[in-house]
Formats: sequence, structure tokens, C-alpha cells
Amino acid sequence: ATPTSIMVGTGRAAELGVLFRQGEALQSLKEVGVVALDKTGTLTQGRPDLTDFVTAPGVSEAEALRLVAAVEGRSEHPIAQAIVTAAEKRGLSLPSTDSFEAVPGFGVSAIVEGRKVDVGADRFMTKLGLPIAEFADTAVRLGAEGKSPLYAAIDGRLAAIIAVADPIKPSTPEAIAALHALGLKVAMITGDNRRTAEAIARRIGIDEVAAEVLPEGKVNVVKRLRASHGKIAFVGDGINDAPALAEADIGIAIGTGTDIAIESADVVLMSGDVRGVVNAIALSKATIRNID
Ligand code: ADP
Ligand code: MG
Repeated sequence: ATPTSIMVGTGRAAELGVLFRQGEALQSLKEVGVVALDKTGTLTQGRPDLTDFVTAPGVSEAEALRLVAAVEGRSEHPIAQAIVTAAEKRGLSLPSTDSFEAVPGFGVSAIVEGRKVDVGADRFMTKLGLPIAEFADTAVRLGAEGKSPLYAAIDGRLAAIIAVADPIKPSTPEAIAALHALGLKVAMITGDNRRTAEAIARRIGIDEVAAEVLPEGKVNVVKRLRASHGKIAFVGDGINDAPALAEADIGIAIGTGTDIAIESADVVLMSGDVRGVVNAIALSKATIRNID
């Protein structure tokens, strides 16, 4: 492509809300064989709601929610916001916390009113040596409903299974169908539970799912997908996504995402709309066709 055609292409892209930080990305996008997308905040809104709170026998729901929300009040994770909002809606006032600790990809812990409170994924409980078998059936049901199950322990005893659900962006299914129409494979990469991820993937037409991926593992998934499908574009919004955005042949950041994701990307979608990925690839194909 000539410099002029690239200028025209990137100008047209800007009108569509697709910002090319890297002129070369306009040329290489047409060669992509697979598009991988982060789930939370990219395919979904990234603003989950608390949907279920099931306590173990003898545990008070209001008391458990109060302690759990106190810990989550210290966390930046979207899941934390969902839990704090649910507690506030119930009129619970949240005590202060000590020794707060976040374990990325696992969960959070703190001391609340002298009690140790841990909240996180099943693998967090396993890491802490807490069996979660008593909630196995509930976890299967919640996952099948596309909800993300979490566990809470108080003083080293399993106290509750909690679920949050993050709505799919209305534009997501259409964007995925359009990527398929362009002949591309579509993959999803997430730190979330496998059953939840698979239920959501089925609803929106994703071909391949990498679930329960730890923050540092996204880069390896990008490499693996490249090995099987060729040139890869990765789309993400979070701090966790920055290394994968840099590793992908083309990194595409959601404009409403974190600064570090945007700085690591070649292309930025000014809106949160994943259809921007389709526009960017279509433009890449059109720009090159006009030249050759
Ligand atoms: P994702 O953004 O895809 O959910 P993360 O790596 O941020 O990936 O988190 C992976 C998992 O770790 C979450 O799905 C959740 O189960 C658990 N987790 C992380 N942070 C928290 C938190 N503040 N509270 C409860 N669980 C958490
Ligand atoms: Mg995300």
C-alpha cells in the first residue's frame, strides 16, 4: 500500500471510531486468521451484578455479605463493585478492614472485626486448603447459567458461594457473526470459571475458549492460537491484557479500557463496541485492494 492509501484508510477508520496508532496495522490486519478477545469488559459490559448468595448451614446471609463486602470494598475488581453495591442495597454498613491482600487471578483476603475473610475463585479456596465440594452442585448450576461462581471463607471455614453475572454487550453476537463471515476463527480468553466461560461462548458463537487463564497466562494463549491459526489479533481492555496486546500481531484496545491497555495496542476502538474490530479488518482489506 502507498503512504497515501494508508492515510486515506486511517482517515476513514477514524470516522468509524477506529484509531490506528500504528499505520502498519492497517496493512497487516487483512492477514489475520484468528481474533481472540478478552471476555470481561470486552465481550461483556464489565459491570457484573450479584445474582446469588448461598450460605453454608448455620451461616447468616446478612452477616456473611457484610464481611465479604467489607473486604471487596478494598478491591478494584468489577466483581468487588457488584458485591459492595449488593450490600449497600441491603442497607448493610461496612466495617473497616486490616491486612487487605489481593492475589491477582485468585481473589482477595483481609481481617474484618478480628476475623479472617477470603473471597475468590474455586482455585483460591484450593490454594488456601479449603474444600468446596459441598457447593459442587450449586457451582455447576450457576456456571451453566453463565454466572461466575465465587466462594467466601470466614475464619478458614467455607461460608458461602456467591454468583455474579456480567451482561453481554448487545453488539457482541453480531460482531462475532461478522468476523465469521470474513472467514476468521474467533476465540475468547478469560480468567473466569470454565463452565461459565463455555456457557457464554455458546450463547455468542465463540469457536474456541481458553478459561481459568491466570493474568500472566494470556500471552501463552496468544502464542498457542497463533501456532494453530496464523496471524492473531487480540482485543482487550484491562491491565491484565497489556502483555497479550503487545504479544499479538495486532493488539486492539477498547477505548473505554485502561490506559495501559491502550498504550500497548496498535489499534484503539473509540467506543466499547466490538463491531469496531470488524470495521478495522474490512477497511484493511479494502485499502489494500484499492492499491494492488
Ligand atoms: P477476569 O477479569 O477474566 O475475571 P481476573 O484474572 O481478574 O480475570 O480474575 C480471575 C478470577 O479471580 C475471577 O473470575 C474471580 O473468580 C477471582 N477474583 C479476582 N479478583 C477477585 C475479587 N476482588 N473478588 C472475588 N474474586 C476475585
Ligand atoms: Mg477485561
